[in-house]
Amino acid sequence: MPTNSAKRTRSLRRKKSGCALASKDWTERKARGLRILQVCALAKIPWLIHGLSSRPGGVSELGGEKVLNLGFAEWDARENVLENRRRFQSVLHAESLTLCGLSQIHSDVVQLFNAPPSVSCRGDASTTNCPGLLLAVQTADCVPILLADPKNRAVAAVHAGWRGTLQRIVAKAIGKMQMQFGSKPAHLLAAIGPSIGGCCYEVGTEVASEFRSQFPNASEWFDELRTGDEPNPLQWLNMKPPGHQPPPQNVLLDLRKANRAQLLDAGLRAQNIVVSDLCTACRRDLLFSHRKEAGTTGRLMSVIGIKGSSVSSSPQKS
Ligand SMILES: [Zn+2]
Repeated sequence: MPTNSAKRTRSLRRKKSGCALASKDWTERKARGLRILQVCALAKIPWLIHGLSSRPGGVSELGGEKVLNLGFAEWDARENVLENRRRFQSVLHAESLTLCGLSQIHSDVVQLFNAPPSVSCRGDASTTNCPGLLLAVQTADCVPILLADPKNRAVAAVHAGWRGTLQRIVAKAIGKMQMQFGSKPAHLLAAIGPSIGGCCYEVGTEVASEFRSQFPNASEWFDELRTGDEPNPLQWLNMKPPGHQPPPQNVLLDLRKANRAQLLDAGLRAQNIVVSDLCTACRRDLLFSHRKEAGTTGRLMSVIGIKGSSVSSSPQKS
């Protein structure tokens, strides 16, 4: 029988080896040098295609490393991104689906797609019940959320940074699914993908105050909800008289917790919500982090769609 400490060492080693893309509720598809994250519960649905990309593989070069950058960027050639997208879709067996991205603007705008859009649409979530469309959101720290309605055959993809989370983008995407497809929240499956974790996501106290004004349970998503007015507990360590210390500037925000809470509030069942514990900032070997890589990094893509071919297919320009 292995001792507890031997078990602990082994699990630590596994963590450090960088192989831990899959974990409970998640599975990994490896092909052509790519490593794609999938949700076990979604992978079982026969008409559904979905996947969340990771960093390794691809033809883009970033700091001497080959990466799967799926977003157009100044540092990367357009044809590299298109080739990466082709490979990503091919590994998912989604070549026949039309990729439907968004011009993401940190808003609460939800687009409904009934056909492949001919121009790029502005917004941060999209939903459809049309076969042949592959809804996509791009992230590099923000939270990607995929939604599936197995009863009514409808899907949605959501991009939630702190602004989108504050504006309840995921709840609004669910509202759109209810309105358009008659989706019942209790039947929906949700996957919250890799994003910057509560371990690394520092925001100003003004962001905490905005959340607190919008959500009664907001304090559960911050390491400490400070307004900046509280007395500094380490006051005695510096020589300044009381009342003259600089107020604490930052707090840590757990965006995944905040979005999970919104899903529960919307009526989703806890057992139907899967949350990745991968932090983009901690795991730059596997993911992209806009913050930790000072803006020069790639984009991850999370996609979801219904198998089949779309009515008309005019490939999107951006
Ligand atoms: Zn982290």
